[in-house]
Amino acid sequence: MNNNKRKRHSRNDVSKKNQKPPSNKEQEIPSASTAKRAKSNEPSKSSNFFEKMRARLSGGHFRMINEKLYTCTGKEALNYFREDSSLFNLYHAGYRTQMSNWPEQPVNVIIKWLKKQSPSFVVADFGCGEAFIAKSVKNTVFSLDLVSNDPDVIACDMANTPLGSSSADVTVFCLSLMGTNYQTYLEEAYRVLKPGGWLLIAEVKSRFDPNTGGADPEKFSKAISELGFNSVKRDFSNKMFILFYFTKKEKKNAKKKEIEWPSLKPCLYKRR
Ligand code: SAH
Repeated sequence: MNNNKRKRHSRNDVSKKNQKPPSNKEQEIPSASTAKRAKSNEPSKSSNFFEKMRARLSGGHFRMINEKLYTCTGKEALNYFREDSSLFNLYHAGYRTQMSNWPEQPVNVIIKWLKKQSPSFVVADFGCGEAFIAKSVKNTVFSLDLVSNDPDVIACDMANTPLGSSSADVTVFCLSLMGTNYQTYLEEAYRVLKPGGWLLIAEVKSRFDPNTGGADPEKFSKAISELGFNSVKRDFSNKMFILFYFTKKEKKNAKKKEIEWPSLKPCLYKRR
């Protein structure tokens, strides 16, 4: 598990190599209408309709899964995907489409930041999705998510990871504080981090807009500081997301006061 920068073979290349050219028998005989379309290079009205239909259905599925993840606990989310792991791919196809509308991807900002740090830093990517961080940096990255379709991703509820205490230099939550019990993920990051280690959180801006029912970013930062972190920087410069940078305090907080965690409203995407 230590070095997850193994080179991947492109499955496409392999299958292409093994592909036989279709025999004449296997080749489809074009109908008069498809032949006409091929000439004019235009998709038929019916294929247009089915494409739109498919996009609409998968958009609907994405929004349903997204709402589920924002309104249940991590444990429930783990069971949800265990019942049908194909929902995870559906979710990420929709997520990719949503993200393509954003002028900047938060994960890319985090990758840029990581590239400026020591390559020896051990990184834990909480809620890694398609594990873009592990694929983009030289560091050892432990990628954690509810489902693992990739041998380098560890499937778990990130409230309970198999990572050792004080084993990571950087913990990342990139748009992944989804569960209603999000504070337990941050407690787990605290356990996993070395003293002085970094906690980076990128979250959707609207979740931190008190004018529209979002949490007060001050209260959120205060709660994390009380957990045992120093707030280093907050970056509001991006249109769609906020980035919080914390470091783990060298010493645990003395007072055992109950932390007041603001609730983070779900980020529900509109039908386009
Ligand atoms: N960080 C990635 C993916 C963001 S989507 C990126 O920026 O590209 C949010 C991800 O968090 C999803 O893949 C979802 O499955 C994961 N996630 C949400 N709750 C989780 C939990 N309790 N444990 C592990 N992963 C979780």
